[in-house]
Amino acid sequence: MQKITIAIDGYISCGKSTLAKALAQKLNYSYIDTGAMYRAVAVYALRNNFFADHVINETELINSLHNIEVNFKYNPLTHLSETYLNGQNVEQEIRTMKVSDLVSKVSSIKEVREKMVALQRKMGKSKGVILDGRDIGTNVFPKAELKLFMTADNDVRAQRRLNEFSSKGQYFSLDEVKQSLLQRDTEDINRKENPLIKAEDAVVLDNSDISKEEQLEFVLKLIADLQLIEKKQPLQH
Ligand code: C5P
Repeated sequence: MQKITIAIDGYISCGKSTLAKALAQKLNYSYIDTGAMYRAVAVYALRNNFFADHVINETELINSLHNIEVNFKYNPLTHLSETYLNGQNVEQEIRTMKVSDLVSKVSSIKEVREKMVALQRKMGKSKGVILDGRDIGTNVFPKAELKLFMTADNDVRAQRRLNEFSSKGQYFSLDEVKQSLLQRDTEDINRKENPLIKAEDAVVLDNSDISKEEQLEFVLKLIADLQLIEKKQPLQH
C-alpha cells in the first residue's frame, strides 16, 4: 500500500493526538506532534524570563531563535516519542497549564512559525507520516493526501482536558479549564499568521459522541477509499 501524508488539524482536546497515535501504530507511520514544538518554544521563553505577566517580549524571543533546538526522541519504555528542548527532555513541562496558557503568545509570532514550519516540513518530508496541529492541511503540507479537521462539543472537550490534567496530578475546576481552552482557541483562530481554519478539502470529524475505536475505524475507511481511488488514478508526487 502506498504511503501517504495525513494532516490532522482542529481545536484543543478534540482527540487529535489520540487519533494520530492510533493511526501511526496501525499503519506503522511516524507521528509528529507539532503543538509540542510550539510548547517547547514557550518553555524556552518562560525559562529565559521573556514573559512579563502574560505579555511576551517578541524581540528577545526572535533574537534567541537560533539558540532553540527542538526535536523528538523515541522512548522505548513508554513506546512514545518525547519532546526535547536543547537536548533536554521537556515532555512533562510542556504539558502544564502554565505552558498551555502561554503557548498561543509564542505560536502567533511569524518568525517562530517560520522556524517550526521549516522543521516540520523537514521531519515529515517522506510519506508515511501523520502530523497534528492547527495549520498542517492549510500551510505545512497543503498537498497532504488526507486532511482531517477535528471538532467536538466545548463541554466534552473541557471535561477531557480536565481528566488529562488530573491524571497528571494537576487539579483545576471544569470552568477554569473551559475558559483557558476557549481563550486559546480564540487566539489560534484570530491570529494573523496561519490561523486555525479548516482546509477546503479537509474531512470534518466531530467526535463528541463517538468512541476512539469508532473514530479510528472511520478514518481507516477513508484511507482505504483513498487507496482505491489511487489504484485507478495514481497519486502525483
Ligand atoms: O496541540 P497543542 O494544544 O499541543 O498545541 C499548542 C499550541 O500550539 C496551540 O494552541 C497553538 O497555539 C500552537 N500550534 C500552532 N500550530 C500548530 C500546532 C500548534 O499554532 N501546527
